[in-house]
Amino acid sequence: MQSGKTLITGGILVDPAQGRHGRFDLLVAAGKIACVSPRLECSNVRVIDAAGKIVLPGFIDLHTHLREPGFEYKETILTGSRAAAAGGFTGITALPNTRPVTDNADTVSFVREAAARAGLVRVWPVGAITLGSAGRELTDMAGLKKAGVVAVSDDGRGVADDRILKKALLLCRRLGLPLLQHCEDESISADGQVHQGAVAERLGLAGLPSAAEEAMLKRDLRLVAETGAALHVMHVSTAGAVELIRSAKQRGLPVTAEVTPHHLLLTDDAVIAYGTMAKMKPPLRTAADREALRKGLVDGTVDAVATDHAPHSEEEKSAGFREAPFGVVGLETAFPLLFTNLVRSGIMTIDQLVTRMSPAPARVLGLPYGTLAPGREADLVIIDPDARKTIDRHRFYSRGKNSPFHGLEVYGLPVLTMVGGRVVMAGGRVTETDEEAEYAGWRL
Ligand SMILES: [Zn+2]
Repeated sequence: MQSGKTLITGGILVDPAQGRHGRFDLLVAAGKIACVSPRLECSNVRVIDAAGKIVLPGFIDLHTHLREPGFEYKETILTGSRAAAAGGFTGITALPNTRPVTDNADTVSFVREAAARAGLVRVWPVGAITLGSAGRELTDMAGLKKAGVVAVSDDGRGVADDRILKKALLLCRRLGLPLLQHCEDESISADGQVHQGAVAERLGLAGLPSAAEEAMLKRDLRLVAETGAALHVMHVSTAGAVELIRSAKQRGLPVTAEVTPHHLLLTDDAVIAYGTMAKMKPPLRTAADREALRKGLVDGTVDAVATDHAPHSEEEKSAGFREAPFGVVGLETAFPLLFTNLVRSGIMTIDQLVTRMSPAPARVLGLPYGTLAPGREADLVIIDPDARKTIDRHRFYSRGKNSPFHGLEVYGLPVLTMVGGRVVMAGGRVTETDEEAEYAGWRL
């Protein structure tokens, strides 16, 4: 991390955790925020001119699939780190559905070492709840925590067995590890491909009923009530699930939730237009579901935005609809898409969006990020609110080009990402060398 000093001057700082929204200068020293003030005069510092720009705490992603080890043709920890830096993310999770599954300390160490070699953003490994994420036998969660996981999840699948999930919840509470649950009752979802509704019927595809998500969520909330242990609900996609979480929170249950950009912006109609590029789990649902997700995000029922960045190869995604894997990429498009479609259109404020993308996910993980308060790590992103581009999936840093948003025009582009005081992206380009990272002449 950088030891020199950097002055970020002239920008509008939005730091909801500190209640700050206004013109502030920031001084970064020894990788940390040294000073925040309406005007700072410093000599012998690198100056980043942020006039006309917005300075935000770096985004944090609760839900990133980096695919390494085992599926390097889809993504690696390096290419995923580049995609994160390009998208303004300063901290991302590495979900455990790799090969081998991150259900052991060696794989955790492997991920941490690869992330350190990439040297771009913070990569936090997530361990599996059960061995091989097979749902039968708990992992050594204490050992995983010692090795460095920040949470546990069997994502890709939900933990179906009541007794196993109950044991896991209690163990996680004791260890202080967040448990991230993919809610899907496979006895209901079976071989479903898209949301069960008119689009599925029209295309002759097997449906994924909302009930598959809601049935497991209901069971989970019952176990949370029984144990008092916390649970985080991944990729909420139905109006019914939002309502279940809202009423659980009203009853005081320790539950948090996330929603993806694609569920906030698209409906199952997208499958007709974009085919397998709009195939994911949970599936895109109806306009009423999308509306409920947006309301839940605005009122805080849904705590965080998470990308569920799920890269796949072109070959895999160009197979037939039934054969193609579930998932879309998200790191490089999340902020501009939501800024354009939710903030510029007046559905939510930028302060609300930043809260859901930075301090809220940090809080779910119990990590001291998501703010630019003095003394904290200098993890930040600078946004140009007026810069505009057409999303081009062929130009992603991610190996995964599977995005339904290709060709869409967006505003609010990340123009500089800093992690621990080090510039990891500037002008849309990821910095690959120390020389670039320490360059003093960035014009944004
Ligand atoms: Zn999932």
